[in-house]
Formats: sequence, structure tokens, C-alpha cells
Amino acid sequence: MRLRWIAVVAWALVACANAWSAEGPARPRLTVVISIDQFRADYLTRFEDLYLPARSGKRVGGFRYLMERGAWFVDAHHDHLPLATGPGHSVLLTGAYPYKSGIVSNDWYDREAKREVYCVQDDRYPLVGTEGGEGISPARLLVTTVGDELKMATGNRAKVFGIALKDRAAVLMAGHLADGVFWFDDKTGGWVSSRYWQRNGTLPEWLVRWNERHIPQNAFGKTWDLSVDTKALRRLWTPGNEYAGDPSHLGVHFPHVITGGLATAGPAANRAFATTPFANEYTLQSALQLIREERLGHHEAPDLLVINLSSNDYIGHAYGPDSPEVLDTSVRTDKYLADFLNSLQDLVPGGLANVDVVVTADHGVAPIGAAAEDAGLPGGRWDPNRAMEVVQEALAKAFGPGKWVVGYGEPCLYLNWELLDHAGISRDRAERVAAEALERIPGIYAAYTRSDILAGRLPRTDIARHVTLGFHPARSGDVVIVSLPGYMASSRKTGTTHGEPYAYDTHVPLLLAGFGIKPGVYTERVSTADIAPTLAWLLRVQEPSGCDGHILTPALATEPLRPR
Ligand SMILES: [Zn+2]
Repeated sequence: MRLRWIAVVAWALVACANAWSAEGPARPRLTVVISIDQFRADYLTRFEDLYLPARSGKRVGGFRYLMERGAWFVDAHHDHLPLATGPGHSVLLTGAYPYKSGIVSNDWYDREAKREVYCVQDDRYPLVGTEGGEGISPARLLVTTVGDELKMATGNRAKVFGIALKDRAAVLMAGHLADGVFWFDDKTGGWVSSRYWQRNGTLPEWLVRWNERHIPQNAFGKTWDLSVDTKALRRLWTPGNEYAGDPSHLGVHFPHVITGGLATAGPAANRAFATTPFANEYTLQSALQLIREERLGHHEAPDLLVINLSSNDYIGHAYGPDSPEVLDTSVRTDKYLADFLNSLQDLVPGGLANVDVVVTADHGVAPIGAAAEDAGLPGGRWDPNRAMEVVQEALAKAFGPGKWVVGYGEPCLYLNWELLDHAGISRDRAERVAAEALERIPGIYAAYTRSDILAGRLPRTDIARHVTLGFHPARSGDVVIVSLPGYMASSRKTGTTHGEPYAYDTHVPLLLAGFGIKPGVYTERVSTADIAPTLAWLLRVQEPSGCDGHILTPALATEPLRPR
């Protein structure tokens, strides 16, 4: 009898916690999407033994909690080109590829403005919280996000926020109707926004107070050293960092001291701070402050928070995927993630059972090109500046003198349409001359012309699919360049990059846990575009306008999703 009463009370508690909304279906109270910039899928398994256990006592772990207690898609890929931060983030919450979303690169040549533009640049909305700088808004994103649909479906009652060191990451995930989007400003060493969100020109009161804690500035002089036993480094391929860059005066070997080459705190030191894992801790602590202050998870409608951990990318570019720094950053990120999840457990009514957490990445990264060359691995570098010269020379040889190339925005080259029209030269003829010149450059796999892409005259290959999905008719260029596997468009001998349609750049983690998610390890090949429709279903809202993805059906629990 007593047991039965306990069961009834327990059921009532669970029911209250889950079916908290008086109207409509059961939904998560809070959805948190965390993208880790340049976090390759294999970092989950390569460093698994160094991560916290899935659970210890009442505390949950970080990655392993999600891998073991959540739905882990081990073969998730980005399907577009180029594999860069802007396009990668634009896919995650829209389910739309750049051919629809318009986010064809981080920067591209704008034919109307006749200049290079940045994917979230918008001069109409000046920055708030700092002096100067270019204005920012989501206006160049041509489709809606899950957050936009959530706002529309709840009469604006849902709260949608974004936070990341990188403006483009937070802005492109949050969307057009978000309540607030915040990013890091090197100059002030704090979080800033733009007039697009902060119409009155001031940051929220709580954020001003939070910025006044000066967490990045207080890290001046702090040392970043290896946090694991040196035995853990035996798995690394370039443990000596012979090919590392020296970002923000941090040096190429542990220990790294945050000074930015300055005597006292300042922008260069803030930049150095951003290139350490401590900035991930700062981002997640700031996200928790946002959740507390904005009372996310406590509203009548479900709330959404999108976060990007950007430091992994700054560190990975400099030291490469096989460095002690990337290993240590991954391990520290795991701890910060665990702290964040445990705090969510306390902050949201009903704990993690009422939260949906997604962890993924905007792209991976290639092994350092120079290291690959020296080791005999297929890979290396080609210089994009030299490539532009080669194209210019080929076009001048074919059509006479003139400035034939007007821009380059990875992976596209832009030809001078005015000059071509004036000289009576057909565009497709000029495209072919440019493409043939590019294809003679060592390290380039192929160059695809605008005419062939738009007419569907591409080979039926995975690479051509990436090219097509990444090509927007109004924004992409005249020739799309794809490197050979292992090669990268880079003039630098040190460090590495990402951008190509190969596994090391496309293969990213996809972990989901929480409300309505069926735990398991899923080996089917899925797309990062599948995240958005899955979240839209869990939130019971319309899929974003350009959504191409499919619902991740195997990971859906049926039980709590039935309308009550
Ligand atoms: Zn990135």
C-alpha cells in the first residue's frame, strides 16, 4: 500500500515536471545547441579514456555522458562546400545548405557592392558595448532557423538567445527573431552585441554587470599547461609541434602564458585568452549566467539557447589536430561541458530530463599540410594568391589585357562580368579558361564552372554534391575550386585549416540527449542538416523554411512525445 502511494506520488512529480505546459504537447523546457568550432568526430573516441565518466554519483560527465546516455550518431557529416565556420553554423539550426541559405562562405565578393562582404556584416546595425567595428545582423541568412519558428509558433513567448566568441557562429545559429545574441570583443574583452538586437543601444543590465567582472582581463599572465599525464601524448602524431604557428604570442610549446606580448592586459592579451581553453570555460559560464538572468527553462513556452565554443578552432589552426594543445583543449572542454550540464540539472525545473542538449561542430580540420608533405602522406598546400595570378595571366593571354579576376572568397573565384560583357566574351568561355588554368596547379583536384553547376553538368560524385549544395546563384562565384585530399588553400607553412569536402573536414560529432531522445549508438550516415528538423519536431514547431534535412528517427523516444 505504501509502495503504491510512493509510486503515485513519484508519477505525479514526473508528470508535473514533464507536462509543465498547460496547453499543447509535452516539449522540452529548454533546448541547448552547442557547436564546438573545428571539433572533429574522432576527438570523441581518440581522447575517450581522458574524458570524465558518464556519471559519478549524482554528477554527470561531459562527452561520455552524451555518448553513453544520449543518442550518438557516429557518422554525421556536413554536406556542403566550403567547410567553414559561417556555412557550417548556418546549416545547424536551419537544416538548409548554402545553395538556399545564402551563407556561401565566411566572406564572399558582393557583385552589387563591388567588394568583399562578411557573412553577418550589416552596416545598418552598429555594435553595442564597444566602439567602432562593423555592424552585425543575420540579414544575409536567407532562411529561418529553429529559433525563428519557435518564436513564431509561441507568439514570441519562447526566449531565443545565442552566445559565442565568434559573432557569425552565434548569429547564424540564433536567426532573425532571437531575443539576444552576444559575442566576444577583443577590444573591450567582454561580450557585445549590435543594434539589431539591442535597439536602445545598451547591453542588458545583467550583461553589463557580468562584463564588469573582467574575467578575460583577470586571466592576464595566467599559464596554460598540459592538464593530463604526459603518457597521454603517446597517441599523438605531431607531439613536437614542429609545424605549429605561434598565435597571439602564446608560443609553440607548453606552457603558454597569456600576455599577447603586452606588459598589461589589452586587446592582444584578450586575443591570446580566446586562443586558450579557458575561453571555453568563460563562454559556458557566461551562458549559465544568461540562463539564470533570463530565466531560460522557466517560461510557459520552450526556450532555446545556441552556443559555440570557438577557442578549439583558434587552437587547432595554430597547433593542428595531432598536437598536445588540441588534446588538452579537448580534455578541458569535456570538464567545462560537464560543469555546464550539472548546472543545467540544477537550474531547469525537472533537470536534464526536461532539457534537450545537442553537441556538434561546424567543421573538422586537416592534418597540418607541411607535416603531411614531409611524412609522405597525400597532402600539402597551394597558394590561393598565386592561383589568382595564374588565372589572371591565362585570361589576359586568351582575351587581352584587363583586370579579369575581381574577387576570391573560398572556394570561389569571381570574374569581371562588366569587362567580359564589354569585350563581348561569353561568361562560360571565360569560366572554362579560368578552370583549365586552375586545374594545372598542383594540389587542385578540380575547378567547376558556374555554367556547369547551374546547368547540372557535374559528375555524379560526392564532391560534386558538396559543390552543388554550396552554390548560391546570386552569391557564389564563377569557378569553384576543390583541393586534392589532404591539400589546402594556404600560403603559410605553419598551422593548418579546413574547407574541403573530405572526411577530416566533414565528419563531426552529433550527440543528442534529454527530453524525447532515445539513447543509443547509431551508425547510419546522417547529415548535420538533420539536426534542425529533429529539434523542430521535438519542439512541435514548423521546420525552418529552407530545411533539407531529415528527422533523426532512430533517436526519437516515442513515450514522452505523445500529446498529453
Ligand atoms: Zn569554425
